[in-house]
Amino acid sequence: MTRIKIGVVGCGGRMGQMLVGAILDHEAALLSGGTERHDSQYIGQAIRHPASGLDTDLKITPDAETLFKNSDVIIDFTCPTATVLHANHAAKYGTIHIIGTTGMTAEDEKSLHRAAKSVAVVYASNFSLGVNLLFYLTRKAARMLDADYDIEILEMHHRHKVDAPSGTALSLGMEAAKGRAVDLDQVADKNRDGITGARKRGDIGFAVLRGGNVAGEHVVSFNADDERIELSHKAGDRVIFARGAVKAAIWAAKQKPGFYDMADVLGLPKE
Ligand code: NAD
Repeated sequence: MTRIKIGVVGCGGRMGQMLVGAILDHEAALLSGGTERHDSQYIGQAIRHPASGLDTDLKITPDAETLFKNSDVIIDFTCPTATVLHANHAAKYGTIHIIGTTGMTAEDEKSLHRAAKSVAVVYASNFSLGVNLLFYLTRKAARMLDADYDIEILEMHHRHKVDAPSGTALSLGMEAAKGRAVDLDQVADKNRDGITGARKRGDIGFAVLRGGNVAGEHVVSFNADDERIELSHKAGDRVIFARGAVKAAIWAAKQKPGFYDMADVLGLPKE
Protein backbone atom coordinates (compact mmCIF):
# COMPACT_ATOMS: atom_id res chain seq x y z
CA MET A 1 0.00 0.00 0.00
CA THR A 2 1.35 3.45 -0.93
CA ARG A 3 1.10 5.63 2.11
CA ILE A 4 -0.13 9.22 1.83
CA LYS A 5 2.54 11.81 2.62
CA ILE A 6 1.09 14.21 5.18
CA GLY A 7 2.86 17.30 6.56
CA VAL A 8 1.86 19.36 9.59
CA VAL A 9 2.28 23.14 9.62
CA GLY A 10 2.48 24.52 13.16
CA CYS A 11 3.61 21.09 14.40
CA GLY A 12 4.78 22.50 17.76
CA GLY A 13 1.29 23.73 18.73
CA ARG A 14 -1.21 21.95 20.99
CA MET A 15 -3.06 20.55 17.97
CA GLY A 16 0.11 20.28 15.86
CA GLN A 17 1.64 17.79 18.30
CA MET A 18 -1.57 15.74 18.41
CA LEU A 19 -1.63 15.68 14.61
CA VAL A 20 1.95 14.40 14.45
CA GLY A 21 0.96 11.54 16.80
CA ALA A 22 -2.20 10.70 14.83
CA ILE A 23 -0.26 10.59 11.53
CA LEU A 24 2.56 8.46 12.96
CA ASP A 25 -0.05 6.05 14.41
CA HIS A 26 -1.99 5.67 11.11
CA GLU A 27 -1.02 2.78 8.84
CA ALA A 28 -2.11 4.60 5.64
CA ALA A 29 -0.19 7.80 6.44
CA LEU A 30 3.47 8.81 6.27
CA LEU A 31 4.64 11.96 8.08
CA SER A 32 6.45 14.12 5.49
CA GLY A 33 7.60 16.88 7.86
CA GLY A 34 6.54 19.78 10.03
CA THR A 35 6.97 23.55 10.21
CA GLU A 36 6.87 26.21 12.86
CA ARG A 37 7.13 30.03 12.96
CA HIS A 38 10.61 31.44 12.13
CA ASP A 39 11.06 32.58 15.74
CA SER A 40 9.78 29.37 17.34
CA GLN A 41 11.85 27.57 19.98
CA TYR A 42 11.10 24.32 18.11
CA ILE A 43 13.02 25.18 14.89
CA GLY A 44 15.78 22.60 14.29
CA GLN A 45 14.42 20.13 16.86
CA ALA A 46 13.40 16.60 15.87
CA ILE A 47 9.68 15.98 15.35
CA ARG A 48 8.65 13.77 18.25
CA HIS A 49 5.74 11.40 18.87
CA PRO A 50 3.79 13.20 21.65
CA ALA A 51 2.76 10.01 23.47
CA SER A 52 5.89 7.84 23.23
CA GLY A 53 8.34 10.78 23.30
CA LEU A 54 10.36 9.03 20.56
CA ASP A 55 12.13 11.28 18.03
CA THR A 56 11.57 10.81 14.29
CA ASP A 57 14.44 11.60 11.90
CA LEU A 58 12.55 14.69 10.64
CA LYS A 59 13.52 18.19 11.82
CA ILE A 60 11.09 21.09 12.38
CA THR A 61 11.71 23.84 9.79
CA PRO A 62 10.22 27.28 9.05
CA ASP A 63 10.03 26.42 5.31
CA ALA A 64 6.33 25.80 4.59
CA GLU A 65 6.75 26.14 0.83
CA THR A 66 9.14 23.14 0.60
CA LEU A 67 6.84 21.09 2.85
CA PHE A 68 3.84 21.80 0.57
CA LYS A 69 5.98 20.86 -2.45
CA ASN A 70 7.03 17.52 -0.91
CA SER A 71 3.66 16.42 0.55
CA ASP A 72 0.41 14.97 -0.82
CA VAL A 73 -1.59 16.63 1.98
CA ILE A 74 -0.93 19.35 4.56
CA ILE A 75 -2.86 19.64 7.81
CA ASP A 76 -3.07 23.18 9.12
CA PHE A 77 -4.20 24.12 12.65
CA THR A 78 -2.28 27.40 13.01
CA CYS A 79 -3.65 30.97 12.88
CA PRO A 80 -5.55 32.89 10.17
CA THR A 81 -2.58 34.87 8.74
CA ALA A 82 -0.49 31.69 8.40
CA THR A 83 -3.38 29.68 6.91
CA VAL A 84 -3.96 32.32 4.20
CA LEU A 85 -0.27 32.08 3.19
CA HIS A 86 -0.47 28.28 3.28
CA ALA A 87 -3.53 28.32 0.97
CA ASN A 88 -1.38 30.07 -1.67
CA HIS A 89 1.24 27.29 -1.41
CA ALA A 90 -1.54 24.66 -1.70
CA ALA A 91 -2.76 26.25 -4.95
CA LYS A 92 0.80 26.65 -6.32
CA TYR A 93 1.91 23.04 -5.67
CA GLY A 94 -1.45 21.23 -5.97
CA THR A 95 -1.19 20.04 -2.35
CA ILE A 96 -4.41 19.01 -0.61
CA HIS A 97 -5.09 21.37 2.31
CA ILE A 98 -6.92 20.28 5.49
CA ILE A 99 -7.71 23.34 7.63
CA GLY A 100 -8.82 23.47 11.25
CA THR A 101 -7.74 27.05 12.00
CA THR A 102 -10.58 29.10 13.49
CA GLY A 103 -11.13 32.86 13.72
CA MET A 104 -10.84 33.29 9.92
CA THR A 105 -12.63 36.32 8.40
CA ALA A 106 -14.75 36.10 5.25
CA GLU A 107 -11.82 37.80 3.45
CA ASP A 108 -9.38 35.13 4.75
CA GLU A 109 -11.75 32.40 3.58
CA LYS A 110 -11.62 33.73 0.01
CA SER A 111 -8.05 32.46 -0.32
CA LEU A 112 -9.22 28.95 0.68
CA HIS A 113 -11.95 29.06 -1.99
CA ARG A 114 -9.38 30.22 -4.58
CA ALA A 115 -7.15 27.23 -3.76
CA ALA A 116 -10.18 24.90 -3.92
CA LYS A 117 -10.48 25.61 -7.66
CA SER A 118 -7.36 23.54 -8.31
CA VAL A 119 -7.06 21.24 -5.27
CA ALA A 120 -9.21 19.50 -2.63
CA VAL A 121 -9.61 21.69 0.48
CA VAL A 122 -11.34 20.48 3.65
CA TYR A 123 -12.20 23.30 6.06
CA ALA A 124 -13.98 22.50 9.32
CA SER A 125 -14.41 24.42 12.56
CA ASN A 126 -14.53 21.04 14.28
CA PHE A 127 -13.14 17.70 13.11
CA SER A 128 -14.91 15.42 15.62
CA LEU A 129 -17.59 12.99 14.46
CA GLY A 130 -19.79 13.84 17.46
CA VAL A 131 -19.78 17.59 16.83
CA ASN A 132 -20.56 17.11 13.15
CA LEU A 133 -23.54 15.00 14.18
CA LEU A 134 -24.48 17.83 16.59
CA PHE A 135 -24.42 20.28 13.63
CA TYR A 136 -26.96 18.11 11.84
CA LEU A 137 -29.19 17.64 14.92
CA THR A 138 -29.10 21.38 15.65
CA ARG A 139 -30.24 22.21 12.11
CA LYS A 140 -33.04 19.63 12.36
CA ALA A 141 -34.26 20.79 15.78
CA ALA A 142 -34.17 24.45 14.72
CA ARG A 143 -36.26 23.57 11.65
CA MET A 144 -38.86 21.79 13.78
CA LEU A 145 -39.11 24.34 16.62
CA ASP A 146 -40.40 27.84 15.88
CA ALA A 147 -39.24 31.12 17.45
CA ASP A 148 -41.21 30.36 20.64
CA TYR A 149 -38.02 28.40 21.40
CA ASP A 150 -35.18 30.86 22.13
CA ILE A 151 -31.91 29.39 20.85
CA GLU A 152 -28.83 29.87 23.05
CA ILE A 153 -25.34 28.48 22.35
CA LEU A 154 -22.89 28.06 25.22
CA GLU A 155 -19.27 27.03 24.81
CA MET A 156 -16.32 26.44 27.15
CA HIS A 157 -12.65 26.07 26.23
CA HIS A 158 -9.20 26.07 27.87
CA ARG A 159 -7.65 29.30 29.12
CA HIS A 160 -5.26 29.63 26.13
CA LYS A 161 -7.91 29.95 23.43
CA VAL A 162 -7.58 33.31 21.62
CA ASP A 163 -10.85 33.63 19.64
CA ALA A 164 -14.45 33.80 20.89
CA PRO A 165 -17.07 32.55 20.41
CA SER A 166 -15.38 29.35 19.22
CA GLY A 167 -15.50 28.44 15.53
CA THR A 168 -17.67 25.48 16.52
CA ALA A 169 -20.16 27.70 18.40
CA LEU A 170 -20.41 29.94 15.33
CA SER A 171 -20.94 26.87 13.10
CA LEU A 172 -23.69 25.70 15.48
CA GLY A 173 -25.25 29.17 15.16
CA MET A 174 -25.06 28.89 11.39
CA GLU A 175 -26.72 25.46 11.42
CA ALA A 176 -29.51 26.75 13.70
CA ALA A 177 -29.99 29.78 11.41
CA LYS A 178 -30.07 27.49 8.37
CA GLY A 179 -32.74 25.35 10.07
CA ARG A 180 -34.82 28.49 10.66
CA ALA A 181 -34.09 29.87 7.17
CA VAL A 182 -32.66 33.13 8.57
CA ASP A 183 -29.31 34.92 8.19
CA LEU A 184 -27.13 34.40 11.30
CA ASP A 185 -25.62 37.90 10.95
CA GLN A 186 -29.12 39.39 11.37
CA VAL A 187 -30.03 37.38 14.50
CA ALA A 188 -26.74 36.64 16.32
CA ASP A 189 -26.48 38.21 19.79
CA LYS A 190 -22.87 37.97 21.04
CA ASN A 191 -22.63 41.00 23.31
CA ARG A 192 -24.59 41.05 26.54
CA ASP A 193 -23.28 43.46 29.15
CA GLY A 194 -25.09 46.09 31.18
CA ILE A 195 -28.66 47.15 30.39
CA THR A 196 -29.23 45.09 27.27
CA GLY A 197 -33.02 45.25 27.11
CA ALA A 198 -35.17 42.15 26.80
CA ARG A 199 -34.17 39.29 24.53
CA LYS A 200 -35.38 39.77 20.93
CA ARG A 201 -37.64 37.02 19.58
CA GLY A 202 -35.79 34.95 16.99
CA ASP A 203 -32.30 35.95 18.16
CA ILE A 204 -29.60 33.29 18.50
CA GLY A 205 -27.57 34.06 21.64
CA PHE A 206 -23.94 33.12 22.37
CA ALA A 207 -22.21 32.72 25.73
CA VAL A 208 -18.53 31.95 26.31
CA LEU A 209 -16.62 30.40 29.22
CA ARG A 210 -12.80 30.08 29.42
CA GLY A 211 -10.67 28.17 31.90
CA GLY A 212 -8.50 25.20 32.79
CA ASN A 213 -7.57 22.71 30.10
CA VAL A 214 -11.10 22.05 28.76
CA ALA A 215 -10.70 20.61 25.22
CA GLY A 216 -14.11 21.93 24.09
CA GLU A 217 -17.71 21.80 25.32
CA HIS A 218 -20.79 23.04 23.45
CA VAL A 219 -24.47 23.19 24.42
CA VAL A 220 -27.28 24.29 22.11
CA SER A 221 -30.47 24.95 24.06
CA PHE A 222 -33.97 25.60 22.79
CA ASN A 223 -35.84 27.47 25.51
CA ALA A 224 -39.64 27.83 25.50
CA ASP A 225 -41.94 28.76 28.34
CA ASP A 226 -41.80 25.89 30.83
CA GLU A 227 -39.53 23.57 28.85
CA ARG A 228 -35.97 23.39 27.55
CA ILE A 229 -34.33 21.02 25.06
CA GLU A 230 -30.52 20.74 25.20
CA LEU A 231 -28.15 19.19 22.68
CA SER A 232 -24.58 18.98 23.89
CA HIS A 233 -21.12 17.63 23.13
CA LYS A 234 -18.10 17.35 25.40
CA ALA A 235 -14.64 16.66 24.00
CA GLY A 236 -12.57 14.68 26.52
CA ASP A 237 -9.28 15.06 24.65
CA ARG A 238 -8.24 17.08 21.60
CA VAL A 239 -6.88 13.88 20.04
CA ILE A 240 -10.42 13.43 18.57
CA PHE A 241 -9.86 16.49 16.35
CA ALA A 242 -6.47 15.17 15.22
CA ARG A 243 -7.86 11.73 14.33
CA GLY A 244 -10.73 13.39 12.43
CA ALA A 245 -8.29 15.61 10.50
CA VAL A 246 -6.15 12.59 9.50
CA LYS A 247 -9.33 10.79 8.39
CA ALA A 248 -10.18 13.88 6.30
CA ALA A 249 -6.65 13.91 4.81
CA ILE A 250 -6.91 10.28 3.68
CA TRP A 251 -10.42 10.85 2.31
CA ALA A 252 -9.41 14.05 0.48
CA ALA A 253 -6.49 12.31 -1.25
CA LYS A 254 -9.10 10.52 -3.42
CA GLN A 255 -11.28 13.56 -4.17
CA LYS A 256 -11.45 15.98 -7.08
CA PRO A 257 -10.53 19.65 -6.50
CA GLY A 258 -13.25 21.37 -4.48
CA PHE A 259 -14.23 22.89 -1.15
CA TYR A 260 -15.35 20.27 1.37
CA ASP A 261 -16.32 20.06 5.03
CA MET A 262 -16.51 17.26 7.60
CA ALA A 263 -20.10 16.39 6.64
CA ASP A 264 -18.68 15.46 3.20
CA VAL A 265 -15.90 13.39 4.79
CA LEU A 266 -18.32 11.57 7.12
CA GLY A 267 -21.14 11.25 4.57
CA LEU A 268 -23.62 13.14 6.82
CA PRO A 269 -26.76 14.66 5.25
CA LYS A 270 -26.36 18.30 4.11
CA GLU A 271 -30.07 19.20 4.28
P1 NAD B 1 -1.48 26.72 19.41
O1 NAD B 1 -1.22 28.18 19.60
O2 NAD B 1 -1.07 25.77 20.47
O3 NAD B 1 -0.80 26.22 18.04
C1 NAD B 1 -0.70 26.98 16.87
C2 NAD B 1 0.71 26.73 16.34
O4 NAD B 1 0.82 27.32 15.03
C3 NAD B 1 1.78 27.39 17.22
O5 NAD B 1 2.77 26.41 17.56
C4 NAD B 1 2.34 28.49 16.34
O6 NAD B 1 3.71 28.74 16.58
C5 NAD B 1 2.12 27.88 14.96
N1 NAD B 1 2.19 28.87 13.87
C6 NAD B 1 1.67 30.13 13.84
N2 NAD B 1 2.02 30.73 12.69
C7 NAD B 1 2.76 29.85 11.98
C8 NAD B 1 3.40 29.89 10.71
N3 NAD B 1 3.35 30.97 9.93
N4 NAD B 1 4.08 28.78 10.30
C9 NAD B 1 4.14 27.67 11.07
N5 NAD B 1 3.56 27.59 12.30
C10 NAD B 1 2.87 28.66 12.73
O7 NAD B 1 -3.05 26.60 19.11
P2 NAD B 1 -3.93 25.26 19.06
O8 NAD B 1 -4.69 25.13 20.33
O9 NAD B 1 -3.13 24.13 18.55
O10 NAD B 1 -5.01 25.71 17.97
C11 NAD B 1 -4.62 26.06 16.65
C12 NAD B 1 -5.86 26.43 15.84
O11 NAD B 1 -6.69 25.27 15.67
C13 NAD B 1 -6.76 27.49 16.52
O12 NAD B 1 -7.31 28.32 15.51
C14 NAD B 1 -7.85 26.63 17.17
O13 NAD B 1 -9.03 27.31 17.41
C15 NAD B 1 -8.01 25.57 16.12
N6 NAD B 1 -8.64 24.31 16.55
C16 NAD B 1 -9.50 23.74 15.67
C17 NAD B 1 -10.08 22.53 15.96
C18 NAD B 1 -10.96 21.89 14.91
O14 NAD B 1 -11.44 20.75 15.12
N7 NAD B 1 -11.18 22.55 13.77
C19 NAD B 1 -9.80 21.88 17.17
C20 NAD B 1 -8.90 22.48 18.06
C21 NAD B 1 -8.31 23.70 17.73
